[in-house]
Amino acid sequence: MGPGLLKVAVISLFPEMFSALSAYGISSRAIENGLLDLKLLNPRDFTEDKHQTVDDRPYGGGPGMVMRVEPLKKAVDAAQLWFKQPRHKVKRIYLSPQGKTLSKAGVTELGKNENLVLIAGRYEGVDERFIQAEVDEEWSIGDYVLSGGELPAMVLLDALIRKLPGAMGDQQSAEQDSFENGLLDCPHYTRPEELSTESGIESVSVSVPEVLLSGDHKRIERWRLQQSLGRTWVRRPDLIEELRVSGQFGPEWQKLLDEFLQKQN
Ligand code: SAM
Repeated sequence: MGPGLLKVAVISLFPEMFSALSAYGISSRAIENGLLDLKLLNPRDFTEDKHQTVDDRPYGGGPGMVMRVEPLKKAVDAAQLWFKQPRHKVKRIYLSPQGKTLSKAGVTELGKNENLVLIAGRYEGVDERFIQAEVDEEWSIGDYVLSGGELPAMVLLDALIRKLPGAMGDQQSAEQDSFENGLLDCPHYTRPEELSTESGIESVSVSVPEVLLSGDHKRIERWRLQQSLGRTWVRRPDLIEELRVSGQFGPEWQKLLDEFLQKQN
């Protein structure tokens, strides 16, 4: 992604849901600051009948309804006009539990596109002929089924927005996030320095790790990396294995991890 704008057209029967992104936090600031241009299109606005029908019964019978091709196709065409770009410069994504599972690598890959159409399904899904003719890729946010593609589209969009240069107030905080260097993030603490908690009938005081109060930035950095390594080893050994296979897990990291494990025993 260049320094330019990310343009996203969302096709959804419930465009109001996207105010969760456009009205809050980092994503709303990204829109205000012109980093993201978001266009919401409702297939219902592209129907011609009195009832604005967007769905119909499935051929072959069975439960549920299927989203019709025509209103979706017209919405996609309208999105294409909005981009003012040739077809090949716009990637069309259908959010679907049958798609490729989204991961950090997927977000990075999709982040290379400057023009995206995100299509949110509802009901039993959309007519297969629409997917075949109009969709470039299908992406899933995990092996479970939600009632609609709006939340998955927002999950993808939020992850993409965080990658836009200047979207995060502090770029360093994005770089320290989980998965950025292949590891989980370290634990974080804030005031107060001592926290009294009730444990059974006793009141126990829990303090912030001493190193974080030391002001010694080298030590703090080392501690954070060690915590990241330890947590990843405990919670996501698969990530450690990936780093080993790719050769990113050097002897320095091994030493820190060994030290962490020794302290646990
Ligand atoms: N019958 C479909 C199936 O089993 O594959 C599920 C349809 S689901 C109830 C309705 C819509 O929610 C889908 O068209 C899709 O857009 C969205 N959806 C549901 N789960 C999803 C997931 N895990 N990832 C992405 N989109 C999902």
